[in-house]
Amino acid sequence: MRAAFYQGSRTFTTGEAPQPTPGPDEALLRVRRVGICGTDLHIFQGHLDHRVPKGGVIGHETFGEVVEAPTGSGFSSGSRVVVEPVVSCGACRACGMGASYLCYQLKVLGVDLPGGMQEYWAVATKRLLRVPDTVSDDQAAVIEPLAVAVHDVARAQVKAGDSVLVFGGGPIGALIALVARHRGARVAVVEVNPFRLEILKTFGLERVGPDTDVVGWANQWTGSTGVDVAFEVTGNPSAARTVADVVRVWGTVSIVAIHAEPVPVNLYQMFARELVMHGSRLYARRDWEEAIRLVASGAVPVTPLVSRRIPLEALQQGMEEALGGGPVMKVLVEV
Ligand SMILES: [Zn+2]
Ligand SMILES: [Zn+2]
Repeated sequence: MRAAFYQGSRTFTTGEAPQPTPGPDEALLRVRRVGICGTDLHIFQGHLDHRVPKGGVIGHETFGEVVEAPTGSGFSSGSRVVVEPVVSCGACRACGMGASYLCYQLKVLGVDLPGGMQEYWAVATKRLLRVPDTVSDDQAAVIEPLAVAVHDVARAQVKAGDSVLVFGGGPIGALIALVARHRGARVAVVEVNPFRLEILKTFGLERVGPDTDVVGWANQWTGSTGVDVAFEVTGNPSAARTVADVVRVWGTVSIVAIHAEPVPVNLYQMFARELVMHGSRLYARRDWEEAIRLVASGAVPVTPLVSRRIPLEALQQGMEEALGGGPVMKVLVEV
């Protein structure tokens, strides 16, 4: 079978690998779609070389079809499934608190362990969730980032009537905006990329473009009080510097982006308005179940986010283009 291998900084190759043999608690999947996301771009640039082995198979946003599964597992040949790519120890403090996705020994499939960028993949059946037939293959591949967004919006306790400002209109930022709007919030997205601004427009989302003073805009939008919740989803230090300035008294700042380096934040504003700041990472099982419901019911329209499908062989090129910051939203690898 074919698979894509990470060969060290900025290099992927495609080659042959032996077809995996599933263990007693595993199903064999035929992989159909794998999303490329910001984490994969960090891997591509060598930022996660301490976690991703040379020759490793990445891909944590996987949709596939079951080829074979153990009897009694609830899955059988032809089942359409997505993979919850987290492996936790079940015994540490985080696991005991119900935060197994933050396990102190957490392993992520497609980062620390082999992922979906291969034709066939053996996965523990307890990591699988069934996808309804009404959900298309492309939509199914966006369930993983949607589960992230569902988690982020829940953790920030976004309520109906809230004003929500999302810094960053890439796939995760757009999905946070769509989920928050579905919860009844008034939502705007700060974005600089014209291609992404155009897609946000097709969703009918309020947009704040590159030539706008964001703090001034937020004050005007909220009668000079500030927004209830601001999400930092850009990973850009200038957004981190601004994010606390747009939030109302007792409001919430949610850090979703990966900031690899420490960056300045306006702690005076944190103090003066008694803001709450929290991080938001990954998801729990209930977030996946909610994401599947939101896609299946059409409550969150994900299809316009898929800007392109590429073959496994084009992974290298796809990564380079995504890094270039060009006209790209979600890129899916069609395996
Ligand atoms: Zn991802
Ligand atoms: Zn644990």
